[in-house]
Amino acid sequence: MITFAGMSDCIFCKIASGAIPAQKLDEDDEILAFHDLAPQGPVHFLVIPKKHISNIMEVEPTDTLLLGRLLNKAQALAQEQGCTEKGARFVINCKSDGGQTVDHLHIHVIGGRPLGWPPG
Ligand code: 5GP
Ligand code: ZN
Repeated sequence: MITFAGMSDCIFCKIASGAIPAQKLDEDDEILAFHDLAPQGPVHFLVIPKKHISNIMEVEPTDTLLLGRLLNKAQALAQEQGCTEKGARFVINCKSDGGQTVDHLHIHVIGGRPLGWPPG
């Protein structure tokens, strides 16, 4: 489901609207980036669209520019956070098999340490 007003029961919509606090890294009209509450590395932040998109399966062709901007923002902030040389993990979990726990599209950026692969 997609709305523009924000989903009343969605924790990331509440963060996007300022209803609940987060440690913000960056914000513009369309996008918010904030530190993950349970960081999995020295660097771990999330980049979200402010509009509610439940997951990557719900993205529509009209979201193409937004998706690109989310990735551009993830890249720029990863560089700002010191991940340019050694890199980082850019992750989008989707639904139950993908391990998604918050149903609002988000890109994880995890870095600052080597990460294992494949995932469990
Ligand atoms: P998912 O498992 O859906 O891919 O990732 C959700 C992420 O959101 C988790 O890494 C979790 O730690 C983080 N998270 C959940 N609730 C909050 C919150 O209220 N604030 C922040 N900053 N992160 C949250
Ligand atoms: Zn939402």
